[in-house]
Amino acid sequence: MSFTNLSELGRSLVHGSLSDPEVLKGTGREPPIRILPNATVIKVGGQSFIDRGRTAVFPLIDEIVENLGRHQMIIGTGGGSRARHAYSVAVDLGLPTGVMSVLGTFVSMQNARLINYLLAKHGIPFIEPAQFGQLPHYLATRGAVIFFGMPPYTFWQENPALGRIPPHRTDAGAYLVSEVFGCKRMIFVKDEEGLYTADPKKDPSARFIPRISVSELKAMNLPDLAVEHPVLDMMENAASRRSIQIINGLEKGNLTRALNGEPVGTVIYAD
Ligand code: ADP
Ligand code: MG
Repeated sequence: MSFTNLSELGRSLVHGSLSDPEVLKGTGREPPIRILPNATVIKVGGQSFIDRGRTAVFPLIDEIVENLGRHQMIIGTGGGSRARHAYSVAVDLGLPTGVMSVLGTFVSMQNARLINYLLAKHGIPFIEPAQFGQLPHYLATRGAVIFFGMPPYTFWQENPALGRIPPHRTDAGAYLVSEVFGCKRMIFVKDEEGLYTADPKKDPSARFIPRISVSELKAMNLPDLAVEHPVLDMMENAASRRSIQIINGLEKGNLTRALNGEPVGTVIYAD
């Protein structure tokens, strides 16, 4: 086939090597379109938030409901302690990363179901990856949708450089949704004001960081982070979602402020 109607880039893509840096560079000349530019992805933490039960979750549910009609919300869920327990049993049984990824997927799905039933009377659906085609319709008609944060790699999950825990978990999965759909914001709802120089639960002298770039953050080489490391790597190559926000969802009003674009919590941006 000759593909005579193709552009120069089209011809080099069809006939050239997909490993050729010049060909690859050409494919990035135009920025991708923003598919859902008015939507915000909200990841509700598993360990840090949902595991705390009603004292944490009920006020957040109320705040989500208050924002229906004002903000389009794509709500993803973490796994938390039950996922970690499943990983610990899987490690003990000698199971590989890909199997742990399957287990983590089902735990984050349990949490998505919990949030789904709490929002059910408002007509907010839970969707699995196969139903993402309907996501825009649900957003337009109901104003929100719930998904499980774990990226659906299941046993295709890559091995980490160290150990066997799946490196791409629910922070990464939720972030990737915000990036591919070109969403307005990516908000991580956790249980601390945002990012600190160390885990504030373990180090009382940890300092709060209101705003920082990915490269500055990487250079600091912090002992622990409030967000999965691969998210920072993904942000460096992001075509649209080049900042994320980490907020304390235990404080009423923070989610609304973040949805309104206020600099509450920590903003991490790719330079
Ligand atoms: P999730 O519930 O979304 O999985 P995690 O529990 O994985 O969230 O991450 C959030 C937790 O990370 C916070 O509860 C906090 O105790 C811990 N943490 C570790 N390092 C930091 C840091 N540098 N700044 C803020 N929090 C941190
Ligand atoms: Mg986590």
